[in-house]
Amino acid sequence: MKIHDILQHKGSDVVVLAPDATVTELVTVLREHNLGAVVVSANGSDVSGIVTERDVVRRLADGTDFLAGPVADIMTAVVHTCQPDDPVESLMSTMTDHRIRHVPVLGDDRRLCGIVSIGDVVKSTITQLQFERDQLEGYVTR
Ligand code: AMP
Repeated sequence: MKIHDILQHKGSDVVVLAPDATVTELVTVLREHNLGAVVVSANGSDVSGIVTERDVVRRLADGTDFLAGPVADIMTAVVHTCQPDDPVESLMSTMTDHRIRHVPVLGDDRRLCGIVSIGDVVKSTITQLQFERDQLEGYVTR
């Protein structure tokens, strides 16, 4: 299974925020869209960073002043990405090796064309396993 198979089901919409959006705006967007991560982009298609709920929670121990500051201050600027033709197995390795749960998908033009979460990967793996089980059941009961 490839990344584009996942995007075919979930779509290519990605919620993005500008680098100067505040962390409070980020928290609102995460809640409204029921998300764990948002891609930071100045123009909506080039990736400047990624910011997740974990980035917010980690800083809460030092106070809440950062909530009024820009997301650029708390985002991760070196972003691991994948491409639509990549196998899902390589995305699983990326997520496991780097302990991340969200990976933006970039097209050949390096522009954002989707995002895959660990939940999407689990869902696609279950669907694939169910398909294979049904195939095997059909084979032995034929
Ligand atoms: P997550 O597990 O996705 O909440 O992310 C854990 C940490 O890794 C946070 O500091 C994120 O900013 C960072 N992170 C999440 N996704 C990526 C990614 N695709 N590339 C680089 N860093 C990431």
